[in-house]
Amino acid sequence: MVTCDVCKNEIKHDGFGTGYGIGKDNTKMCYTCCAEEDKRFMEENNKITLYHSTNDNEEVINWPGTLRFRSVSFQGEHNWGLPRYDVYFIDHTGQKWYGRRIGDNTDLVHCRKVNHINWFAQRALDRIHNKISWS
Ligand SMILES: [Zn+2]
Repeated sequence: MVTCDVCKNEIKHDGFGTGYGIGKDNTKMCYTCCAEEDKRFMEENNKITLYHSTNDNEEVINWPGTLRFRSVSFQGEHNWGLPRYDVYFIDHTGQKWYGRRIGDNTDLVHCRKVNHINWFAQRALDRIHNKISWS
C-alpha cells in the first residue's frame, strides 16, 4: 500500500498515472495534496505555471488536474511568429491572475498574480463566475 507522505492517506490508483506526485526528497504526495501544495506555492510566490485546458469550459489546471480555475483567454500579439494567448483567472482566494501561453503546441501557461486586469477580461471573468448577466 502506498501512502501520501503529507496527509498519510492511502494513495488510490484511479486510472490517471501513478496516483501521486514526487516532491522534494522523494516524498510522495497524493493528488489532493498536490493541489494544496500548488495553492501554497501560489500564495507564497505570486506565480505558478499551470496547464491550459480548453476542452469544454476553459480552465487552467495543475499537473494532476486537482486544482482548477475557470479562465478566459484572448489571442494577443505574436511572439517570434507564434501566437500568444493572454489568460486570466481568479484564484481560490479571490486574487486576479494573468498568464501567458506562447504558441499552439504547448499547454503551459506562465501565470503571475496581478492587481489589475483589463476591463474586457474582467467582464469575461465576471460572466463565467455569474456575477453579471450578459445582455
Ligand atoms: Zn495527501
